[in-house]
Amino acid sequence: MISKPRVHTIAVIPGDGIGTEVTAATIEILQKVEQDLGDFQLRFTHIDWNSENYLRQGYYIPENGLELLERHDAILLGAVGSPDVPDHISLWGLLLPIRKTLNQYVNVRPVHILPGVASPLKNCKVGDLDWVIVRENSEGEYAGQGGTSHGGTPNAIATEVAIFTHAGIERTMRFAFETALSRPRKQLTLVTKSNAQRHGMVLWDQIFDQIRPEYPEVSCDKMLVDAMTVRMVQKPQSLDTIVATNLHGDILSDLAAALSGSIGIAPSSNLDPSRQHPSMFEPIHGSAPDIAGRGVANPLGTIASAAEMLKWLGEDEAAAKIVMAIDAVTVAGTRTRDLGGQVGTEQVTKAIIDHVQSQK
Ligand code: ATP
Ligand code: MG
Repeated sequence: MISKPRVHTIAVIPGDGIGTEVTAATIEILQKVEQDLGDFQLRFTHIDWNSENYLRQGYYIPENGLELLERHDAILLGAVGSPDVPDHISLWGLLLPIRKTLNQYVNVRPVHILPGVASPLKNCKVGDLDWVIVRENSEGEYAGQGGTSHGGTPNAIATEVAIFTHAGIERTMRFAFETALSRPRKQLTLVTKSNAQRHGMVLWDQIFDQIRPEYPEVSCDKMLVDAMTVRMVQKPQSLDTIVATNLHGDILSDLAAALSGSIGIAPSSNLDPSRQHPSMFEPIHGSAPDIAGRGVANPLGTIASAAEMLKWLGEDEAAAKIVMAIDAVTVAGTRTRDLGGQVGTEQVTKAIIDHVQSQK
């Protein structure tokens, strides 16, 4: 008896700038993998929430928009941001409401050096930099609380209140311990700034110390975020899993991606580990208005995010096919300019599709 293919519904938000180019490339690859394996189906819904429509309509997410997302199994996002819209408006108009409403409370950002790609760090090769950054994704410095008094005057005072809750920290921390435990090195580094920020950051330290005894196999240490940037550059081999606040996790993952070769190759997963809401997968880079529309964007960050999405949906074989193709294509030298190569988005996409096909 032939069993029915498993069906997964995917909401695709290409967004702005290179977001549209890299998601189109990724969907082509997903459709190829789906066709080749034949045991699952992806049903895509294209959603045009972007800055162009914001400028016309005054909103990113229409009424009942989040309910539309809720009806899908996962969300694939390109990038949102435009030179015509202040970044805090696009971030708070689209990305943050999705992450918060759909309870995507951890942001997982794996980074490693791809075979054939040169790290800007001297003597740092494949295997020397292999990290997973677990970023708190729902509160902290991105709580959105604060205000401005005497705004627009030389006496202006603005407050930006970071809110950390025991429950919010603990669930992220537990996810990070589990991640560390699942990796060969079983090592977890907590990043804070608890010497200067004496309330929220100290709570992070305390909760870390409370959970540690439950994971005797995980070796743990703590770093201040400033010292952490130095360690990432000078001793990349000494790190494995990293857990950090919303703001620190964001900054460190851009650094991590650049150290691995380019900001264009790093994937991220915004997860609701309880699986009550769909999780969202997106590259860590932005809409890159400086290169948008030229066909030169590196699609690998989005393609790798789609592989993470397939893993989350239980399609491990499909995910592995994509990961293998990414490695093969970078090793073969089919690389975009950010990786020192010569080719554009289309050629990389075609090379990946060819590799997927050759794996049959
Ligand atoms: P946003 O406002 O959406 O965050 P941004 O320009 O501030 O956009 P990024 O989009 O992350 O930030 O771009 C930072 C730099 O990295 C730019 O010079 C951009 O061209 C480059 N870059 C980002 N993503 C890619 C990619 N996928 N391929 C090649 N270069 C990229
Ligand atoms: Mg930006």
